[in-house]
Amino acid sequence: MRDVRLGGVLIAVVVAALGGGARAQSPAPDWRAVEEETLRHYQALLRLDTSNPPGNESIAAQYIKDVFDREGIPAQIVASDPKRANVVARLTGNGRKRPLLIMGHTDVVTVDPAKWTFPPFSATRDGGYVYGRGAVDDKDNLAAALMTMILLKRGNVPLDRDVVFVAEAGEEGSTNVGIDFLVKEHFSELDAEYCLAEGGGVARKGGSVAYATVQTLEKVPRRIELVAGGVAGHGSVPLKTNPVVHLAGAVARVGEWRPPIRLNETTAAYFRRLADISPPDAAKHYRDVLSSDPAVQKAADDWLFENEPRHSSMLRTSASPNIITAGYRYNVIPSQATATVDVRLLPDENQDAFLEQIRKVVNDPSVEVRYPTAATRPGGREARLDSEAFRAIEAAVTRVYDTVTVPTMGTGATDMAQLRGKGVQCFGIGPAADIEDGPRGFGAHSDQERLLESELHRFVRFNWDVVTSLAKAK
Ligand SMILES: [Zn+2]
Repeated sequence: MRDVRLGGVLIAVVVAALGGGARAQSPAPDWRAVEEETLRHYQALLRLDTSNPPGNESIAAQYIKDVFDREGIPAQIVASDPKRANVVARLTGNGRKRPLLIMGHTDVVTVDPAKWTFPPFSATRDGGYVYGRGAVDDKDNLAAALMTMILLKRGNVPLDRDVVFVAEAGEEGSTNVGIDFLVKEHFSELDAEYCLAEGGGVARKGGSVAYATVQTLEKVPRRIELVAGGVAGHGSVPLKTNPVVHLAGAVARVGEWRPPIRLNETTAAYFRRLADISPPDAAKHYRDVLSSDPAVQKAADDWLFENEPRHSSMLRTSASPNIITAGYRYNVIPSQATATVDVRLLPDENQDAFLEQIRKVVNDPSVEVRYPTAATRPGGREARLDSEAFRAIEAAVTRVYDTVTVPTMGTGATDMAQLRGKGVQCFGIGPAADIEDGPRGFGAHSDQERLLESELHRFVRFNWDVVTSLAKAK
């Protein structure tokens, strides 16, 4: 057997010498060795406490920079705050195509250590999982991108485009030190045709893969304030102008209003593909919501709102009143009452026109309706489903996970928004996780966080597959 295999290798070498070219110069990585190394970096990153606030991401930035320095990968640390550094690294290609950016964030949300079975920054391995804050948000993407850079460099893989790596600080609510700073001060180093970051994943149900989601677009977060004003008075003498009463009415009307349905390329494809892989009763609702018959669409929308509210939010700009501030003594009629509404706009929504619509819904001149702050995330264009990148991702999903790819519009916000605002086509990807794990309290931002080791390793292979499909010289 040994001789036969040796013969096979020899034939491969001869074929390569006769013109196999690029492929032979960069053989597939030795995945077993890669797994040990992946786990080492992943655990090391999880053990760095980068809770934001305060962040302190420079400890992770320095770790990554040291790894790249050892590998001979050109990398620089860029920071607006020395404690909150970012890393930008680049492998240079022949320039035939515009760069590919692979990105992860180094900060994590804060923890309540009392809620954790294993200490949150211990990266403990148990039962096939690795536990730690950041395990699925976002040190998984970070470790996979890091490994892809290392493997490209070691394999001396010839590239048709530069591959740019970014480890960014401040994704969890302090984008001023991370993506905003990077886009403002260093965009020429980040500029790319395509970007891969967090926001997607592979759903496992009952232990087996069900489908993969790729985020190609996200909603734009904005808050609206409703401010009711009146004259203060004694509670024993009810007033027609009582701001609490006016605000309560306004909040109820906004809460009950469902803005009109508007689909885009991503959400239309999402519901179509979801229908294809769902049981008949659920599939009916996903198909009906795409119907051109308003009555059919309305019935499906009603069902989704009650049973799958995330899907209802994907259909429209949404408005959820979440804070009410009114009154301070039971016998005093206050002169002001305020409500804050969490609005998630469709990326192409006209924000001024939407505010005007809310005013009409409130329909009360004593209630002022306003945006209290400027928009923090721009609304960018959706990443194209007919792009080379989406096709490469879809093919890699088939090869690595043997499942269907479903493009999604995120109802939440990610740092891809700032890049999309600059014209980069961004795709959110992620490892496979059991959908049962979130409700059990092991998901992103939960009281505990974990990832299956086997899925971390599969995600590295997926990352490698996508990046080499897009960047390796043809
Ligand atoms: Zn994240």
